[in-house]
Amino acid sequence: MIEISHVNKWYGPSFQVLKDCTTSVAKGEVVVVCGPSGSGKSTLIKCVNALEPFQEGQIILDGIKVNDPKTDLPKLRARVGMVFQHFELFPHLRIIENLCLAQEKVLGRSHDEAVAKGDKLLERVGMKAHANKYPAELSGGQQQRVAIARALAMDPIAMLFDEPTSALDPEMISEVLDVMVDLAHEGMTMMVVTHEMGFASKVANRVIFMDKGEIVEDAQKTDFFGSPRSERAQKFLSKIL
Ligand code: ADP
Ligand code: MG
Repeated sequence: MIEISHVNKWYGPSFQVLKDCTTSVAKGEVVVVCGPSGSGKSTLIKCVNALEPFQEGQIILDGIKVNDPKTDLPKLRARVGMVFQHFELFPHLRIIENLCLAQEKVLGRSHDEAVAKGDKLLERVGMKAHANKYPAELSGGQQQRVAIARALAMDPIAMLFDEPTSALDPEMISEVLDVMVDLAHEGMTMMVVTHEMGFASKVANRVIFMDKGEIVEDAQKTDFFGSPRSERAQKFLSKIL
């Protein structure tokens, strides 16, 4: 579903943020990306749905080359759900309207269709009772569940998550992770930047460890937790586990 080959990216003339990154995510696979702050995790997943350009290498998403000038990027982005650290709901729109906007504007669904889909997804993330509230009336965990529902409303072929729980109070983390675990069990293709190793050990198929712009380790979950090959990954794990 996602193929990343030999991606090199620079910010400015001399700072190389991604160094020869190669990996892939198969359909239905859950890949967790971890590593120290500043190692390039966010940059890598932003390259996947073309929120960031890169200078060398190639990324193919469901058969479509992301870095091809002929690729319709808005259309491509609409097919990949993205959930960030900060929920980024539209503050002036009610929850249900947050879920409908892109369905109508980008996918051309009728308002009724969009509302029906939105309702179903709010139910799925346990937020149906809050459909008519505004984002500011919800807790961070609730907003993040809405953000996930909003992404799912677009029928994405894959979901990208960038530290979706790291801005949340501890008691709200599990309610968001539970939604993500369900998604994983339903077979969603997911690439998840997170330091929640409980989540990783529960649902990840593979774990990627990045350091200084490089993919240092790309291993089956059991191998990664059992015996990370690199010293850098061992050190990292010993600090967070
Ligand atoms: P991570 O998500 O692993 O913390 P990032 O991908 O956000 O890492 O950042 C990797 C490196 O690139 C960091 O050193 C960061 O300061 C730098 N960086 C991120 N975004 C930009 C940008 N827009 N311009 C210049 N440098 C950036
Ligand atoms: Mg980041």
